[in-house]
Amino acid sequence: MNDVSGRKGRQAKPQKPATLAAQGLGWVDEANHALTPGVHVSSTFLRDRENRLPDGRLYARADTPAYDQPEAVIAALEGGSAAMVFASGMAAATCAFQALNPPDHVVAPKIMYWALRNWLVTFGRPWGLQVDLVDMTDLDAVKRAVVPGKTRLVWAETPANPLWDITDIEAVGDIAHAAGARLVVDSTCATPVLTRPFEWGADMVMHSATKYLNGHSDLLAGALVTRVEDEYWARAKALRSQGGGILGSFESWLLTRGMRTLFPRVKTAVANAQKIAEHLAAHPAVLKVLYPGLPDFPGYAIAARQMRGGFGGMMSVRVKGGARAAISTASHLHIWKRATSLGGVESLVEHRATLEGPDGPVPPDLLRLSVGIEDVSDLIGDLDQALVMAQDAVTV
Ligand code: PLP
Repeated sequence: MNDVSGRKGRQAKPQKPATLAAQGLGWVDEANHALTPGVHVSSTFLRDRENRLPDGRLYARADTPAYDQPEAVIAALEGGSAAMVFASGMAAATCAFQALNPPDHVVAPKIMYWALRNWLVTFGRPWGLQVDLVDMTDLDAVKRAVVPGKTRLVWAETPANPLWDITDIEAVGDIAHAAGARLVVDSTCATPVLTRPFEWGADMVMHSATKYLNGHSDLLAGALVTRVEDEYWARAKALRSQGGGILGSFESWLLTRGMRTLFPRVKTAVANAQKIAEHLAAHPAVLKVLYPGLPDFPGYAIAARQMRGGFGGMMSVRVKGGARAAISTASHLHIWKRATSLGGVESLVEHRATLEGPDGPVPPDLLRLSVGIEDVSDLIGDLDQALVMAQDAVTV
């Protein structure tokens, strides 16, 4: 495969990320000039008669051409020096922690993707990691939590699932670096369309590529992207190949295909989300809309600086009438689909407390909305009728 912009002759102008994504970096298969890559399924690679590996590839658990294009695209979109794809977002995130050396100390947010918070507590701590969970929006709390020389990793997620807290990447990065720690940002919900964490000082970026990067709710995948290929990156890479939690060939191909439409998908979802948030904020059946694009949202000013071109496609809505009204609202929706996950082209709704349990930070009246790319008037009309039906149902 080759990057067509790298042909001999006049140097092509640097391309914008939307162009790189749409063309998958412009790679074509040199063997047959196919614009669409093949699915590379081989688990092993031929040695020549001199016992050498002509392409340096030995075995697909360590390295496969199936990863070349998706990893190159993700690294280019984030402005990193290298990327690694994984079998899921959780495989990518836990690899970043497992590349540490207990009793290393890590600081992570209280509000973050709940399964990763659970993993840190259930598996990270017993393994020997020292884990402190803090309010990442409170810079003094972050300063108090880091221990110079001991804290090796500060984890941030922005906007953070499912209350959409906004972390000031630059400020938290400064605190982490002053303590000798690296900052890793779960940028799943921001996407490289809206935020490029390396521009704000992050050291590593993580994605659940299951979500916006792929965008079609038809695969599980994860990614880590690094600013520099240092020893820690080499350790994470060795962990992926030795641990074996690797992405399948067809999923790699699907991910490359999905990323081609990343920019128009995210832009449409973001425009829809802003309209829906403003509409619901004035709705009599709604207690509160949690969306970084509303000026009264606590993280609005930071998000306006850090997120380019919009505030994301995710929001949560607290419905008047408690858990019963929230669940009833979801049950009356027709166009919004009741399902977990996010970042697909179709709009999803979920009562998060059902999943995260009563002891988590999620209010029982909260519905999480993943806004898709449908016609926004359909989405608003469906929400309006469901909110009315649910209020009628809980007041009788
Ligand atoms: N990070 C965020 C913000 C998520 O929303 C999710 C999944 O919902 C993950 C990480 C984990 O990703 P995966 O489900 O691909 O393992």
